[in-house]
Amino acid sequence: MTRRLEGKPVAEALASELRQRRQEGEKKGWPTPCLASIHIGEKTPFAVYLQRQRREAERFGIALRSTGLGEAATQEELERTVQTVEEDGSVDAVLLQHPLPPPLDFFSAVGRVRPTKDVDGVSATSVGRLAQDRPLQVPAVARAALAICRHYRIDLSGEPVAVLGRSQTVGVPLALLLLAKRAGADATVTVAHSRTRSLGDSLLDAHVIFSCVGSPGLLGRANVPKDAIVIDVGLTTIPDSTRPSGVRMAGDASPDLEGWAEALTPVPGGVGPVTVAQLMTNVLRSWAWGHGGEA
Ligand code: NAP
Repeated sequence: MTRRLEGKPVAEALASELRQRRQEGEKKGWPTPCLASIHIGEKTPFAVYLQRQRREAERFGIALRSTGLGEAATQEELERTVQTVEEDGSVDAVLLQHPLPPPLDFFSAVGRVRPTKDVDGVSATSVGRLAQDRPLQVPAVARAALAICRHYRIDLSGEPVAVLGRSQTVGVPLALLLLAKRAGADATVTVAHSRTRSLGDSLLDAHVIFSCVGSPGLLGRANVPKDAIVIDVGLTTIPDSTRPSGVRMAGDASPDLEGWAEALTPVPGGVGPVTVAQLMTNVLRSWAWGHGGEA
């Protein structure tokens, strides 16, 4: 039987830490923490992400201020908006929702955010600090994947693990976090991507597979070693006429891993809820830094 690694209990454990951090700041007289979210256009998945983020922020007494730009926004307009939001003294943390429609340059825009307010941990400084194992903010999704392993006592130390995907916002930070010389990490990491010659061969030794691709059904019995653990980060909206919304969310794992993998995170309900809780933890870190506290 494949163990289901549900995200809910992990998110709940984080929630109690979050409440404690929030209360400590309040006792020190810090103003309400504020997360500013900037997005382009109104389409899903942003609308879905934003709704979830707002719900979670409300739960922890975090104000969420959202700024939307039209689909036709220019780079100059975007950077001016990011700069204005970032310089607002009442804003503790800035989140630029991505991907951005081409030709907008995400990294140039997010470079306008000072590292302590870069709640998504995607600026050059944040990624550089992570590479040096002196992390500031770390992308919430990467922390979420490791929090799941910690919660379910999946030992990564020295273990062969694979990260599928090498995006600067998900795969690379996750691989760096797994490589870090510290408890809960210390893994032996292989990174695979779209140019990897044989995905199956690159996974042969993998004890834990972190899939960050966004390709439903990519992982199945044909390429996943028997009894591997799969942390499915992938999240894709696919048509489903049986749902009132007409769509559903799917991960990278195929249903045939059931009964084959030792453990698997469900999609939805696995990495997603933990990522939102980690994002709120990152907001409270930025809040603490902004008021001279320890994060
Ligand atoms: P992305 O920028 O599109 O990157 C996808 C990565 O997958 C790329 O590095 C790509 O390789 C690689 N790839 C494509 N086909 C592959 C294949 N056949 N085998 C191995 N690797 C392959 O996406 P992203 O922003 O990193 O996000 C990845 C997924 O995570 C998406 O589904 C996203 O929705 C999801 N996500 C989930 C959460 C959550 O909370 N659960 C949070 C953030 C993101 P190349 O570099 O060679 O193109």
